[in-house]
Parts: sequence; structure tokens; C-alpha cells
Amino acid sequence: MELKSLIRDITDFPQPGILFRDITTLIGNPQGLRHTIDLLDEKCRSANLIPDYIVGMESRGFIFATPLAYQLNAGFVPIRKPGKLPAPVYSVSYDLEYGTDSLEIHQDAIAPQSKVLIVDDLLATGGTAQATVELLHKIEAQIIGCAFAIELIALKGREKLPNIPIISLIEY
Ligand code: IMP
Repeated sequence: MELKSLIRDITDFPQPGILFRDITTLIGNPQGLRHTIDLLDEKCRSANLIPDYIVGMESRGFIFATPLAYQLNAGFVPIRKPGKLPAPVYSVSYDLEYGTDSLEIHQDAIAPQSKVLIVDDLLATGGTAQATVELLHKIEAQIIGCAFAIELIALKGREKLPNIPIISLIEY
């Protein structure tokens, strides 16, 4: 199955000039969803990326991170936007094209030195994943890799994640 054919391109979303890769058409297709999770599972296993926990970034990251955690017998840990998590958090701010944003993780989400895999729907500039790496350093996790359904190669997100094994399924 060609996963790329299930992704819908939306021009000028969320702002003029942006070509948005819409995954709702991928995950809304029964075979597409299953095949995406199965492929992530296979690629993680063959790269020996077997985590104790998978962290997923709000909100599209959750869609891929949770079933993958289930498949790999790992726990799922949410990385959320500010003010959403109820217990004490660590917080990291990162730069967007216009302004800044923050991400948070529960301070007690994992035992220190646990093996953690970062999962999101899409790697673009790498800012979101880099902020997640910083959060995981605060929590003393051992980052074993990152996995994305989609990678926008031209934006060079990988350069922000040096020395971290990276898996992606669909490249643009
Ligand atoms: P980055 O921080 O520039 O790597 O952007 C990645 C984040 O932005 C991910 O959490 C994605 O969910 C979101 N994102 C950026 N571009 C797209 C897109 O074209 N489709 C879906 N999500 C996107």
C-alpha cells in the first residue's frame, strides 16, 4: 500500500504560502492506519529501538504514539501544551516562525534512565522534536530515537537532532 497516496495536500493552511500535509485522510483509512502503525513497529524493531516509554507530542503525535507504544509493550507519556497537565511539570520554550511556544511533561512521568522513543506525526524544522529532547534531558531519560510518519526533508529537521537515530515512513 502506498501511504503517500492517502495524505491530502492542503494549500495555504494554516497560513497563506504553507502547503499542509493532512494526515486525517491517512488515519481515516482502515488499511492506512493499520499499515502506518505496523510499519513504524517493524522499523523500530529492525533498528533495535525498543523503548520503555514512548513520548508523543500534542496532539497529532498522540495518534501514532499510543498504538505504537501498545505494539512495543511500552508506556505512553504525553507531551502537552502549557497548562494542560495536572501534576508538577517541566517546561521548555521554543521558537516558532512568529513568537514562541512551550511544551510540558510531568516531572514523575518516567523513572530516570528509562529508554524513551519520541513519536510525532511529522518532522518539519525539528523545533518541536528538539524541545522534546530538552524536556527529556530534564527528566533524565535515555533518548533512544525518534519516529515520524512524515518527514519534510528540505526543512532539515534532522540537523536539530544530532546523534539520535531517526525513523520516518513518508518523505517529501
Ligand atoms: P517542526 O517543529 O517545524 O518540526 O514542526 C513539526 C510539528 O508541526 C509537528 O508537531 C506537526 O504536527 C506540525 N506540522 C508542521 N507542518 C505540518 C504539516 O504539514 N502537516 C501536519 N502537521 C504539521
